[in-house]
Amino acid sequence: MKILIVEDEPKTGDYLKLGLSEAGFVADLCRDGLDGLHMALTEAYDLVVLDVMLPGLDGWGVLQGIRRAGKEVPVIFLTARDQVEDRVKGLELGADDYLVKPFAFSEFLARIRTLLRRGKPRESEILKVADMELDLLRRRVTRSGKRIDLTAKEFALLELLLRRQGEVLPRSLIASQVWDMNFDSDTNVIEVAVRRLRSKVDDAFEPKLIRTVRGMGYVLESPE
Ligand code: CA
Repeated sequence: MKILIVEDEPKTGDYLKLGLSEAGFVADLCRDGLDGLHMALTEAYDLVVLDVMLPGLDGWGVLQGIRRAGKEVPVIFLTARDQVEDRVKGLELGADDYLVKPFAFSEFLARIRTLLRRGKPRESEILKVADMELDLLRRRVTRSGKRIDLTAKEFALLELLLRRQGEVLPRSLIASQVWDMNFDSDTNVIEVAVRRLRSKVDDAFEPKLIRTVRGMGYVLESPE
């Protein structure tokens, strides 16, 4: 799940980006309205978080640009306290939700999850392979009906492998999708994470679903 944050206040922006990546999302941060619009139009985001007062182009302009380009991506506005007209205007322009600053991160996360759910067709809420099920709504993983506890990153990693099951995913792709980092960064992170994930979802079960393809990457598939 990839989220774009357009926010010029350095502290708020950094805080949201960090919080979202800790919650298992890939988050891009942009501090200028024009750059934000450009990114929203050229990259595939699942959600956009928009501040109203921005240099370059304000939040309204960014939202209008997104909607004019026919993009249906959910947008949540961050508005200043007491500016009721701002909220109304945002919703009229096609925002999906708004949040009044200052807000608790837990509230922000809950709103985001709701918006992401709303945009999804029902059949994609549960991903399955063999006896494994990953429930995107409840953020829950089971094998043979047994609940498995995963960290946010492990969940994101498993979700990626499951969404692209049968495909060999190179470490570089996993790094960019799950960790938002380049391949040259510490690639050991991926190996360690895959090993941990396997110890939780594969070690105690048959058949083994996650396979290492030497020199290439990882693949998740049912062996039959
Ligand atoms: Ca601002």
